[in-house]
Amino acid sequence: MADTTAIRHAERAWIELNLSHLKHNVAELRRVMAPGCELMAVLKAEAYGHGMLPVADALCEMGVTSYAVATIDEGIVLREHGIKEEILILGYTDPRRAIELHNYSLSQTVFDLSYAEALAAEGKAISVHIAIDSGMHRLGIAAEDVDAVALLFTKEPLAVHGIFSHLCVSDSDDEEDIAYTKKQLSAFSALLDALVSRGITLPKVHIQNSYGLLNYTDYPCDYARIGISLYGVDSEHGLYRKANVDLKPVLSLRSKVIQLRSLPKGEPVGYGRAFITERDSRIAVLPIGYADGLPRTLSGGKGQVLLNGKRAPIIGRVCMDQVIVDVTDIPDVVAGTVATLIGTDGNETIAAEDMAEACGTITNDLLSRLGRRLIVETIR
Ligand SMILES: *Cc1c(COP(=O)(O)O)cnc(C)c1O
Repeated sequence: MADTTAIRHAERAWIELNLSHLKHNVAELRRVMAPGCELMAVLKAEAYGHGMLPVADALCEMGVTSYAVATIDEGIVLREHGIKEEILILGYTDPRRAIELHNYSLSQTVFDLSYAEALAAEGKAISVHIAIDSGMHRLGIAAEDVDAVALLFTKEPLAVHGIFSHLCVSDSDDEEDIAYTKKQLSAFSALLDALVSRGITLPKVHIQNSYGLLNYTDYPCDYARIGISLYGVDSEHGLYRKANVDLKPVLSLRSKVIQLRSLPKGEPVGYGRAFITERDSRIAVLPIGYADGLPRTLSGGKGQVLLNGKRAPIIGRVCMDQVIVDVTDIPDVVAGTVATLIGTDGNETIAAEDMAEACGTITNDLLSRLGRRLIVETIR
């Protein structure tokens, strides 16, 4: 077997994907789904920065039969890779690309009558899922507008294969937020009942995202559209999670020391001379920067990395392709020492939630920006 460790270390920076954690998460999430509910794996934005294709392959092996992406091009990449299962595009596709939707058998979200009419006017048989606005007020037809929704079932050659909505505060245990989510769920249910009473056979129904599933497990659906929980992290620390699931982080982000330097007290480091050594120091350069998805907002001492199981602060400003850390207190660091930016090294861990908190965002944002220049190595 190839020494994948050596391969990884030949890179400047890399993502390590733990596929057994991914599989564990799928099993955990399936365990709490209501009977009849299936996992729709959300693979948009390179599977939240993890790498869409290796994640898709692992999920296929687990018998996942339904996928969601944000754009038609993400869907085409999955099809050309050989994914034969249902692929739903959650976002906008220009109606002029109807032929591709048809040829690649991609399901398209339709969010209002005029969009559906423009798509139907292209004359291609296309599978669609109707987006319903149950209270988030982003995409979708108002749940109260039964006439418009019913009309969509007649827009040949479109074929309605699904109807769905999206929850906007399902990750909160604030009383008013819980009441709001319940209102969204009942508005959606009322619409479904109204369609049935008009003689419409319901297509696939779905409304839960990760926190929708974890906190409103019992709502009956055909699919739960799961993104962030698949990847084993919370959007941020301390979110409401009612279902008792054990999720394990799938991604680690690593790089390595390429240069070390000793500096006397009082020397500047990096752009803008933003950091001045406060003591005689030893500093190390890692070849990973904001163009790799390491947020520039980790500058100014907000971020840390792990080296030989110890924490080293990021000093100065994160550059496009490099970052500099203070290793004065970790004397055994040498050129080639592996640096962990997200993940575990020895007894220390920097969780994606920790890094997201340090730069004032959520893990969904942080992770989905990783990638373009990083290689993805899978471990099983
Ligand atoms: C991104 C997205 C999801 C997945 O959300 P998570 O909170 O990451 O599980 C589900 N549904 C829609 C419509 C989305 O855009």
